[in-house]
Amino acid sequence: MEIKEVRPNVFFVDAPGAGVNVYFLRTSKGIVLIDTTSSVEEMRAVMDLAGFRPADVHLLITTHADGDHVGGNSLFTGTSLAHQSVLARMGAFDRALNELPNETFDDPIKTITVGEFEIELIYTGGHKPDQTILWLPKQKVLIPSDLLFQGSYPFMVGCQLERWIEALESLHEYPAEVILPGHGTLSTWEDIDRLAQYFRDGINAARELKAMGLTMEDAGQDPAFPRVDGWEREGRIEANNGVFLQQTV
Ligand SMILES: [Zn+2]
Repeated sequence: MEIKEVRPNVFFVDAPGAGVNVYFLRTSKGIVLIDTTSSVEEMRAVMDLAGFRPADVHLLITTHADGDHVGGNSLFTGTSLAHQSVLARMGAFDRALNELPNETFDDPIKTITVGEFEIELIYTGGHKPDQTILWLPKQKVLIPSDLLFQGSYPFMVGCQLERWIEALESLHEYPAEVILPGHGTLSTWEDIDRLAQYFRDGINAARELKAMGLTMEDAGQDPAFPRVDGWEREGRIEANNGVFLQQTV
């Protein structure tokens, strides 16, 4: 785990390998923390390295309800903000009350100001139905969260595939100079385009295999499905192929 200051007072907690990334801003009002890793212990380790305590956190933002993004939420007692679909999904997972967002928004885009920071929260869905991404217009920092897995096969189970592709394409609307993925390290537009292409290739392969009348079981292993040189976590390929087959008509 490494903490990188990618722009003044904008920090990226870069967790290598399988780890999940979190992000925080040092503002004149206190820390704005975005996601809390997979556990209380992991989140404590981030804070030790970063040099802040739970009481220093002015605002917690949750990008989506997957367990590896909300595991440390119970450490924080202040304002916890998320799209209302995050709250709904966390409720469905039986998350404890002190882990849930206590302030939600319903609009596709919510802009907030904290100290000198302007933060846009953009609800996209895609990776999961509650996915929200962040844009810091002054710093030109884009945080696609789990819309972007950099350097590894994405986790696709439970995704909305077509919406995910559209959301990745829409990222090009932001004149970002820094791109911070949910998994992986500092990213480029190429990383975004490669992931969108992986999805399109997977859909095309699924269409062809379905047209050939293959059963789901046979088709899931088929070499027609895309592979990407250099991507880690090949263990996800088969489950992803299943998603391509399920979500392709
Ligand atoms: Zn996720």
